[in-house]
Amino acid sequence: MLLNKSEFLFNRAQQFIPGGVNSPARAFKSVGGIPVFFNKAKGSIITDEDGNEYIDYVGSWGPMILGHAYPPVVKAVQDASFNSTSFGAPTEIEINMAELVQRMVPNVEKVRMVNSGTEACMSAIRVARGYTGKEKIIKFEGNYHGHGDAFLIKAGSGALTLGQPSSPGVTKGTAKDTLNADYNNLESVEKLLKENKGDVAAIILEPVAGNMGCIPPEPGFLEGLRELCNRHEAVLIFDEVMTGFRLARGGAQERFDVWADLVTFGKIIGGGLPVGAFGGKKDIMDVVAPMGPVYQAGTLSGNPLAMSAGLAQLSALENHPEYYVELEEKTEYLEKRMRLLLNEHEIDYDMHRVGSMTSIFFTSETVTNFSTANTTNQELFRIFFHEMLNRGVYLPPSPFESWFLANSLTYEMLDATLTAADEALEVAK
Ligand code: PLP
Repeated sequence: MLLNKSEFLFNRAQQFIPGGVNSPARAFKSVGGIPVFFNKAKGSIITDEDGNEYIDYVGSWGPMILGHAYPPVVKAVQDASFNSTSFGAPTEIEINMAELVQRMVPNVEKVRMVNSGTEACMSAIRVARGYTGKEKIIKFEGNYHGHGDAFLIKAGSGALTLGQPSSPGVTKGTAKDTLNADYNNLESVEKLLKENKGDVAAIILEPVAGNMGCIPPEPGFLEGLRELCNRHEAVLIFDEVMTGFRLARGGAQERFDVWADLVTFGKIIGGGLPVGAFGGKKDIMDVVAPMGPVYQAGTLSGNPLAMSAGLAQLSALENHPEYYVELEEKTEYLEKRMRLLLNEHEIDYDMHRVGSMTSIFFTSETVTNFSTANTTNQELFRIFFHEMLNRGVYLPPSPFESWFLANSLTYEMLDATLTAADEALEVAK
């Protein structure tokens, strides 16, 4: 049988790269089959190695909010590269980035650039510990904050997809300092705070969970956490790696009007290049070296190509508030019509959407947390996913990932997606 190029490349990749991929979420583990290898994309159309085109709802897992190969980003990277790909010394563009982040997210009074969301979250936790002198952290089951040791305990995303929410290699010592609460359940947080009185340095969460499917915070949940952190002198950390610059210019903080002490960023902030950042109140951020004693560093942090790409994308978002309105309208258009289709096909489902993040759970339960997310019918999703893929729609290859829409999606693409979904649901149900 003739192999298509993705099959051929996957066979080759598996010989030299663990599992054939450089990040597990790409491996199609939960949906089965061969991961598609891509070699170009423009706007919301992504093209595989065989020349097949797909409408893209992954968007590189979030960064491509204005579409692939967005011309100002491409030009910024090209221009920057002529002046050197890295200096390892301060540059003006890093100040421009910090100022822009501060304008868009006003409570980020100081910000430090890093190279990934993982680094941002690891560093934020260290800063919270250094600032408070306390050691334990509270996180939420099914939230994902990257692959730092402290977070790989009942984690979401690829770890959840692979059935490995807690990873071997994380020491018992690390695990004991990570306390897991139940998402959308303030009582579970209060209980942990009581049991560990005076020991909790920080509460970290995804203000809209996107790594166990898309799950919004219930009314009062974020406000309640803010109040609990105030009362227990713990640092409230919003992991806005997915939601930052996506749900609004000021991210989930602006959308829900609840403001954290520290915020982590990734994805959109780099315009598709490897960038993360953490920032927040001045007095907390000033514990970071060289100003303060908490060590944090990076050879390529603030890299000129990465800063240029990020600045180009963020500037477009800052200067065009209408992009957020358009994107929200498009996602709502898709959501409303998808719900009609799911109803027509008489499929049990719960569907959530916050701004341009959405996902479908095939379940009769109301999904609010990790355990209800886990009731989703994974076999039904597997079939739905492949039927969509065969019809030219690239969804995240896991029922536990959010779909990320881009403003480059056209209504024709959304309609084509809905036609594909109608047919795919007919097969899957
Ligand atoms: N935090 C959240 C909410 C994420 O979704 C992710 C990645 O998906 C991370 C942190 C880790 O970011 P990175 O993959 O850039 O290390």
